[in-house]
Parts: sequence; structure tokens; C-alpha cells
Amino acid sequence: MTAAQPTRLLYVAHDHLNFDHGILKTADSNTDALVLVESQRMITGRPWHKERLFFLLSSARHFAAEAQSRGFTVRYIQAPTTIDGLKAAQAEFGNLPIHCAEPSSFRQYQQLKDFGVDFVENDLFLTTRALFDLWAQKQKSFVMENFYRAQRVRLGILVSNGEPEGGRWNYDSENRLPPPKNYTWPAYLEHGRDDIDAQVATQLEHEPTNTWATTREGALSQLANFIEHHLAGFGPYEDAVAADNWALHHSLLSPYLNNGLLHASEVVAAVVDAYRAGRAPIESVEAFVRQVIGWREYINGMYWFLGEDYRNLNLLNADRKLLPLFNDSSKTQMNCVRSVVADVEARAWTHHIPRLMILSNLALVTGTNPQQFLDWMREQFIDAAEWVMVPNIIGMATHADGGLLMTKPYAAGGAYLSRMTQHCKPCAYDPKKRVGTDACPFTTLYWDFLERHKDTFVKNHRMSQQVFGLKRLSDLPELQERAQEVLAGLDAGTI
Ligand SMILES: Cc1cc2nc3c(=O)[nH]c(=O)nc-3n(C[C@H](O)[C@H](O)[C@H](O)COP(=O)(O)OP(=O)(O)OC[C@H]3O[C@@H](n4cnc5c(N)ncnc54)[C@H](O)[C@@H]3O)c2cc1C
Ligand code: SF4
Repeated sequence: MTAAQPTRLLYVAHDHLNFDHGILKTADSNTDALVLVESQRMITGRPWHKERLFFLLSSARHFAAEAQSRGFTVRYIQAPTTIDGLKAAQAEFGNLPIHCAEPSSFRQYQQLKDFGVDFVENDLFLTTRALFDLWAQKQKSFVMENFYRAQRVRLGILVSNGEPEGGRWNYDSENRLPPPKNYTWPAYLEHGRDDIDAQVATQLEHEPTNTWATTREGALSQLANFIEHHLAGFGPYEDAVAADNWALHHSLLSPYLNNGLLHASEVVAAVVDAYRAGRAPIESVEAFVRQVIGWREYINGMYWFLGEDYRNLNLLNADRKLLPLFNDSSKTQMNCVRSVVADVEARAWTHHIPRLMILSNLALVTGTNPQQFLDWMREQFIDAAEWVMVPNIIGMATHADGGLLMTKPYAAGGAYLSRMTQHCKPCAYDPKKRVGTDACPFTTLYWDFLERHKDTFVKNHRMSQQVFGLKRLSDLPELQERAQEVLAGLDAGTI
């Protein structure tokens, strides 16, 4: 039955699309009207990847339609800003109180608070902000591994009597294999499109891929497909970058975890069930559980713990403008970079290692301004949100926080990339060379980066050996000269 006279307005943000958590956990269709706002600012405020906009808008419209079919009064309002949309709802229903789950960025939190919205705790994560603070305040350094082990025990996941199942907390040494040769990757799910999708696609003038589901049903089928075809191989190849497959055994679940269509608890439960049924080995199951209850929760916790100003840190004083190749994959000859940027252009996604060791590594060793790089990543990725991009970019990827999150910068030269990717063989550059016109730009820039920051890194015990390695480079002056040529070529889009 639809409520004739609602007494509360429940604001459902585009990343809170969940009936069992957040503000809808206690919703009553007899007394509550649901309000979703598609703000113009959200669509045109920045040069967003259209695949990303398509996914977010279509998911929200499907969710609104589902809420209506469950008997709720629903308003899906298009307005210049979120606040304008909420004002329009209040104008229609009378000046009713508005409630929502704690928003997922500082900015939205402040805007809604200033407008007088009441918040309930955001339980779309497994760790409340208060609980994370308790953990963080006790730490000397914020080591994710320590948080993760505490999470395993607290949540009772893959532990018995306080000890890890399988005897170890961490199976990284079994994982991290290079990409396999002559391997048949299972096909990935294609998601069908319906009328709502078609309307959103027309509005955005975008032809969407079939990669991303826009309904809970589709998200659940993605989860089932992952468990069936990919979970067992997830661990060993989680760090590999293949030339013949863009997704490998990754789950492709982050968009749904981040917009609410899936909850971390159900994803982890399904994976642990598969383990209990003997369908996947511990090294893959543990590796995946670590990502979801460890990394994901840690990143969200740190976002709130570190505060709003953390976003602006630039402790390596990196001031290069964003390279043209980030907005056009044809502006580089570097095969690994071109291929990864082309993947992002195609479907707004690439897995963790291309994000970290190719895109971010390039931003790091070229001295690209971290905030410009952050904005680009934020605009281009299907699963991007402020809470997740800020710590990943400012902390993990660009070391712009001076090591608050990660004890060492993730800088690497061609040797690492030629081991973990299949991109070097057909590349115009040679990963082993650091000088000369065919030297791998990553190799040249890696050493140049260390040289530029040696005074800072020599004090870091995890970096000092690499800094001492500079002393063995007899060709350092030549390398530094080549690095200037490479940087100029990257700025010009010719390298
Ligand atoms: C520079 C950089 C930027 C990133 N930006 C985002 C982002 O905007 N949104 C996002 O969801 N993830 C981000 N990640 C983390 C990770 O790369 C993606 O979650 C993952 O690639 C998504 O694909 P998947 O669902 O197939 O992940 P899988 O490899 O199957 O992993 C499972 C899940 O673990 C979680 N996870 C793993 N690592 C992280 C992490 N570092 N932070 C948060 N969650 C994590 C995700 O929810 C992911 O769905 C970023 C990582 C780096 C290094
Ligand atoms: S040689 Fe260097 S630039 Fe080319 S693919 Fe390998 S790592 Fe990338």
C-alpha cells in the first residue's frame, strides 16, 4: 500500500541503494516517502566518464522503480543540486523532516548537515567510523595488515579460537604470480539492457558497454559468476597484468559494493561458503577476504580518520600538470600505459595493479600533481568515490602524505613491469635500458625519481637500499639528461 500522507522523507543517495542497510533498514512504506535526487551538478559538474554516469544513474533509477513496486512513495527528482531536490520534496510533502544514512564524503556530510538532515549510522560498511577511530587512535603507524587481522577476529571470518584457518593470516607468498602463458580465461558476464538503461543512455548520449549491471539482480549474478568461474584463480593471478584479458580473475564487484547494490557482508559470506564447500583454495579465499574486510574497510576508515585536509597534501611537491596521455591513450608510445588507459576509456575500469603500478607509478615518478591525478582518477573510474579515491591516491599511489599510510612509495621501473605484465615484448621501449632513446621511460624515471628525492628517502629504512643503489649507477648524469627528454616527451604526448 502506498502512503497517502508520509510523515518522514528518507533521502537515498546514489551510493546507498540498499533496502536492508542505511536509512531504508527501518523504512516503513506507510509513513515514509523516499527521495532520490539526480543533481545537475553530479552530471555536468566535471568531465565524468559517461560509462560511470550511466552506471550510477541507471542503477538509481532502477532502484527507485523497485522501491515503488515495494509500495513506497518515491520521488526521483532532477534538480540543479541535491539540496534543491530536497527542497522540492519538502515543498510537495510539507516541511517534513529528512533523514538519511551518513553520507560518504566530507562535502556531502556538511551540505546535508547544514540543511538540517538527520543522519543514521552508515552500516553499508562493516566498520563504523567510531570503531575505526578506536583502532586508529591506538596505532603508532597505520599498518593495514594489523587492522585486517583484528577485523578477522572481530568479525569471526576464517578464524577458529582466535587463530587463522589454514594456519596463516596471509598467503601472499603463494600469490603474486606473473601472468600465465597459454591460459584460457573464463568469459566475463555480459549484462543485458532494458528500457530504463536505454533512457539513461539516450539522456547521456552514450552507448554503454554490457560490462556493468544496473540492478541488484545483475549484481548478484556478477557475484555468482565470480564465485563459479574466478574465485579459485583469484589469489595466484591477482597481481598479474595480461595482454589478452582485461579482467583476469578479478571480481568486478567494486561498483556494486560502492553504490549499495551489494553489501560486503553478503559478498564475504558467499566467498567463505564456497571455501567451505571445497570450491576454492584458502590462498584465493583469504586473498579476496583481505581485500573486502581489510583494504576496503581500512581505506574508508582512514578517509574519515585523516580528515578533510588530507586530500590536499603534496609532500613531495609534485607540480607537473596532468600528462596528455591520461585523456587520450594515443598520446603515448608506452605500450603498458597506452593499453591500460585504453581499457579505462573503454569501460571505466582496470584492476588494482594497473591502477597502482602503471597509472599511479607514472604519476609518481613524473612528479605529477597528486590533486590533478586524483581528479582524473575520480572522474574516470566506474567505482570511484571520494572516500576511496582520496586515501588510495594521496596515500598509497602518490606518497603525497609523506608515508602516513604506506611506509614506502610504490615506484617501480621496467624490471617489475616486464615480470608482471605482458606488455613489454611488443613495446617500442626496452625495460632493461635506462638510457638511450629506446630506454623504458619507467626505468629512466624510476632512478631519476629516487635521485630527486634521495634526501627524503634515505631516512626511510624500506627505501635506503634503493637509494644506495644510485651510487652504483655510473651513467647517472646521462640518465638525468634522458629523464628530462622523457618528461618533455610525455608532456608533448610523443613518448
Ligand atoms: C590508485 C588506486 C585507486 C583506486 N581507486 C578505487 C576506487 O575508486 N574505488 C574502489 O572501489 N577501489 C579503488 N581501488 C582499489 C581496487 O583497485 C579496486 O577496488 C578494484 O580494482 C576493483 O575491482 P574488483 O571489484 O574486481 O576488485 P577485486 O580485485 O576483485 O577485489 C575485491 C574488492 O576488494 C575491495 N578493495 C580492494 N582493494 C581496495 C582498496 N585499495 N581500496 C578500496 N577497496 C579495495 C574492492 O571493494 C574490490 O571490489 C583503487 C586502488 C588504487 C591503487
Ligand atoms: S618497456 Fe617500459 S613502457 Fe614499454 S611496456 Fe614495458 S614497462 Fe611499459
